[in-house]
Amino acid sequence: MTLKEELQTYLNKDIKNSTLKEIYDALIILSRERMKTQNIITGKRKVYYISAEFLIGKMLSNNLINLGIYNDVKDTLQAEGISLADIEELEAEPSLGNGGLGRLAACFLDSLATLKIPSAGIGLNYHEGLFQQFFKDHKQDEEPNPWISNTPWLKETDCHFTVPFKDFTLISTCKDIDILGYNGGKIPLHLFDLDSVEESVIGEGIAFDKTDIKKNLTLFLYPDDSDDDGRKLRIFQQYFMVSNAAQLILKECTEAGFALNQLDQFAAIQINDTHPSMVIPELIRLLMANGIDFDEAACIVTRTCAYTNHTILAEALETWPMDYLEAVVPLLVPIIRKLDALAKERYTDSKVAIIDKNARVHMAHMDMHFGHSINGVAALHTEILKKSELKPFYDIYPEKFNNKTNGITFRRWLMGCNPELSDWISSKIGDDWKKDASLLSELKKYADDPVSIDELQRIKQKRKVAFAEYLLKTQGIKVDPTSVFDVQVKRLHEYKRQQMNALYAIYKYKQIKAGYIPEKPLTMIFGAKAAPAYTLAKDIIHLILCLSELVNNDPDVNKYFKIVMIENYNVTKAEKLIPAADISEQISLASKEASGTSNMKFMLNGAVTLGTLDGANVEIADLVGQENIYLFGKHSDTVIDLYAKQGYVSKNYYESNPVIKDLVDFIVSDKLLSIGDSTNLNRLYNELLNKDWFMTLLDLEDYIHVKEHMLIDMQEASNFGRKMIINIANAGFFSSDRTIAEYNQDIWHV
Ligand SMILES: *Cc1c(COP(=O)(O)O)cnc(C)c1O
Repeated sequence: MTLKEELQTYLNKDIKNSTLKEIYDALIILSRERMKTQNIITGKRKVYYISAEFLIGKMLSNNLINLGIYNDVKDTLQAEGISLADIEELEAEPSLGNGGLGRLAACFLDSLATLKIPSAGIGLNYHEGLFQQFFKDHKQDEEPNPWISNTPWLKETDCHFTVPFKDFTLISTCKDIDILGYNGGKIPLHLFDLDSVEESVIGEGIAFDKTDIKKNLTLFLYPDDSDDDGRKLRIFQQYFMVSNAAQLILKECTEAGFALNQLDQFAAIQINDTHPSMVIPELIRLLMANGIDFDEAACIVTRTCAYTNHTILAEALETWPMDYLEAVVPLLVPIIRKLDALAKERYTDSKVAIIDKNARVHMAHMDMHFGHSINGVAALHTEILKKSELKPFYDIYPEKFNNKTNGITFRRWLMGCNPELSDWISSKIGDDWKKDASLLSELKKYADDPVSIDELQRIKQKRKVAFAEYLLKTQGIKVDPTSVFDVQVKRLHEYKRQQMNALYAIYKYKQIKAGYIPEKPLTMIFGAKAAPAYTLAKDIIHLILCLSELVNNDPDVNKYFKIVMIENYNVTKAEKLIPAADISEQISLASKEASGTSNMKFMLNGAVTLGTLDGANVEIADLVGQENIYLFGKHSDTVIDLYAKQGYVSKNYYESNPVIKDLVDFIVSDKLLSIGDSTNLNRLYNELLNKDWFMTLLDLEDYIHVKEHMLIDMQEASNFGRKMIINIANAGFFSSDRTIAEYNQDIWHV
């Protein structure tokens, strides 16, 4: 049976006479049937990747790619005048993550399956995800994101566990999503849930009663933790996740024929950031309930668990007050106290204590004492962990520290989101790069070939036209596809410095108003969600939206310059935007971005980085060379030193530099105040002037200078095209297949 015949059997009619929804449904059946026949990857030893987030994105196209039938499906539909892209629109994106950390977990599952490593992801099935973002009055509005009723991939299972909290126990259910490997095999993503959860408890926006645990436990990812109930809810969620994980792992250990004291021979558990840390005491508790004494249980668990650190921001390293734990998970308390006592017996330095003098439990400290591996996610990040942030731990456990530079799956971030570029690459160097990404380096020989550069730029241009159409359709904003697409998309955080980019936008606006017309028009594109309780992040969104209103409606300016903020930035939008980008903005304060992964996605799609020497940007710069990246800003050593000496005073930059003063003052100018809300704009203005914790003004002048230089370079298309090819050719290192192979080689040993 041809693919067309198969589709028509599911449709019960001709493709031609079917609606898009009918074809979508038929394609889902077709892929699910094929997925059923794929073997679950098994073996003697298994990796469990536990993560609060899995930002997996839509699955249909990815599954078709990994089943090896994407092109066949696309061509079959095209022959009937139907575009697969239109059908993709009908699928809802699962809302199981927030940003880079969750997207990394998703890329890792794809690579685990592709490398045929027996493994599973374990997380929670958030019914309403993080939230859906809308813009209203130039501000972020939050609404629930009910994705589950619109996804065909979530499967019921008959796997249940009993999770003991202080005043009640809950029975979990497990829902699975199958993750396919490229060219065969699959692994499960286990998402634990509670049947009693009720969407009806949600009131206005995303508000709900935080104490009604049976009804709210798996409603939202990262529920607001600005009050006690919210913080306790997060502990309820975390324990629910890891108790299910621990029970599942021990069950599978026994089923695989291992005794429980051989757990470390069967399982390798990766703790993705601190959210799953309680899996350590929970496993110890369960082993003890099975007759293993505490000391042995602690040793077994240490040999089984490994921890990945994702941040050096102190506020992101979780600590929980002991009395919260007593109120939520009292069964873990004696175990955490024993682990703390053991750590204190071995090491007297109060900086490495699990329970500090304020009776707060440092989750990362537990991971580092009672896990066998501690990894950072980019070379610079790991060095900073060793040298400063986690130095007391590096001093006692140097052998545990290792680096695993993040990666992305090229199946989604090139083959899936940019098929034309993918085909172009294959036309130059053959198809083998899809299995071995390092082969992309063969593209280097085309870097000086004018025909190749021209072909590549035509592909980029097509993506830009397509994105401009999408933007017009979805947000009613018209942008010029021949303008430079300058893109900063990522969670909103002060350390990522969207505010610095916004100050550049003010600079550009003023320049154009003063008659300095750019040779090539510029479109600045932002996309970011702010945590609902993060006031300043929301103020920054407000500034960007007000600037967008001002600039886009000014007839002196909007021919040459526009500012756009994508609403509800997510994986689906990233897949459309990244292939269309010319400039990749990676401008975090040096030392603060652990790795970044969008920097890798942009590079792979031929955008050139404008960035600081932070996270994986450092490795990008090493790979492409200084002439193929635009770097600016103070180095991480300088920044770390400034923090240590409290040597940064933003007001000094403001007062001594009239350009900076002018830009910052514009935030509270009459022009902006007539559009925006003076509370938000004044708060942001005062913050930049009096605190500016992430040193925006430190790098602002250099940023403007280098960005202007980059824009001038872009006027010479062929020279810039060369940089694009060099970037793509050097992106192979950032395949998550490489990252996962390293985890397996150094940590998991499967
Ligand atoms: C890759 C990705 C991120 C991570 O972006 P960074 O710039 O590395 O922080 C966040 N959100 C989405 C939707 C992504 O695809």
